[in-house]
Amino acid sequence: MSELALLGGPKAVTLDPGDMFTWPIITREDEEAVLAVLNRRAMSDTDITTAFEAEFAQWMGQKYAVACSSGTAALQAAMYAVGLRAGDELICPSMTYWASCLQAFSLHATVVFADIDPETLCIDPKDIEHRIGPRTKAIMAVHYLSHPADMDAIMDIARRHGLKIIEDVSHAQGGRYKGRKLGTFGDVAAMSLMTGKSFATGEMGILTTNDRQIWEHALALGRYERFNGKNVVESEDIKPYCGLPLGGYKYRPHQMSSALGRTQLRHYDERIAEIDRSMNYFLDGLEGLPGVRPIRPKEEGSTMAGWYCAHALYLPEELNGLSVTRFVEAVLAEGVRGGVFAGANRALHTHPLMTDMDIYGDGKPTRVAFATRDVRELDKGLDVSAGLGARTFGLPWFKHFRPEIIDEYIAAFRKVIEKHEELLPGDPGNPADLGKWFAF
Ligand SMILES: *Cc1c(COP(=O)(O)O)cnc(C)c1O
Repeated sequence: MSELALLGGPKAVTLDPGDMFTWPIITREDEEAVLAVLNRRAMSDTDITTAFEAEFAQWMGQKYAVACSSGTAALQAAMYAVGLRAGDELICPSMTYWASCLQAFSLHATVVFADIDPETLCIDPKDIEHRIGPRTKAIMAVHYLSHPADMDAIMDIARRHGLKIIEDVSHAQGGRYKGRKLGTFGDVAAMSLMTGKSFATGEMGILTTNDRQIWEHALALGRYERFNGKNVVESEDIKPYCGLPLGGYKYRPHQMSSALGRTQLRHYDERIAEIDRSMNYFLDGLEGLPGVRPIRPKEEGSTMAGWYCAHALYLPEELNGLSVTRFVEAVLAEGVRGGVFAGANRALHTHPLMTDMDIYGDGKPTRVAFATRDVRELDKGLDVSAGLGARTFGLPWFKHFRPEIIDEYIAAFRKVIEKHEELLPGDPGNPADLGKWFAF
């Protein structure tokens, strides 16, 4: 009999994980804050949201914040606020969650995809410049799977070409690049704070900026109750239109989420420090094994913050071609829990929405309806994104530093790698559609 659990042996993981993977951490303080909103019937008011915006902006080290009903809404408001308009192009990595870019279509703008760096999985600065055209307006810098994007190189491109930078911090709240907080490099940062993310508040998003014009334009799109003339709007182009949402959207967040945002913020730095310690301890235990390479920043001062959906690289060539699908199956059989799956997001440029769907009845595929060039032709050379699924897997996301449990997880991975040859017979290979369009 094999020792591998998948082939009938005993499991490497024997300890009960308890609340190791329970997130977010909810205490009496959170419950009382949320119940207070309910008992006051203040769910649709804005007092708590305004307080949360001020506290979050201060934590980010930025002057302004706009909370929205979702990260999707906050990112769309950020796109509008930096001036993305009809016919403009947004450069976005193909490997990200759809809400980093799809909202551009509803602004009559379009998306040009760039490839990712094979080691950080964030947008590859070397793959951006040849995609810039006369209508390129902005770059979406996604700190993907909690890893900081290469902001020095991205900011350099933006300066030389006069482009705006939006940072999508949905995966990396509190993370740092060379010592500086993510979300403070670009013109504006926007992010999801939904339940699955590191900074989890229910359903909510937020954007932060130091630019008053950006702040006002973000409010104008869907936070109409704050874009009402009473708060002095300075931007001349929108000033006469106060009172109604320019986008025709209602993006005010639910105050039970804002209340949770305030209580979660008080403990967030401490909680992610424990996650950081646990994940680094785990990855140190995998260091040097064939087939697996931790993904974590190498430069001084760069961090993974909350380690949202952190992944490792998988190198089948070091394991006699064993598929990541079979590898993950064997790891799970050992009793490993906490978010392990094969692949990552699916490369966005491969979805038919990007080639032929006419969403709004313009008589042309939406992606090119307002564009001044056929940006679909630029979907070449996105090979790292397209092939990533077979070369990566999600790591267990430890929320607590409990070495006795983490040691068992390290042992499980070591065991599967050491005995991987026993898994080769019966390896079904990877499915053609490896990866996910979305996780929730
Ligand atoms: C979750 C997510 C969003 C969207 O946020 P919602 O709050 O779900 O609307 C945007 N970008 C990225 C990278 C995300 O993971």
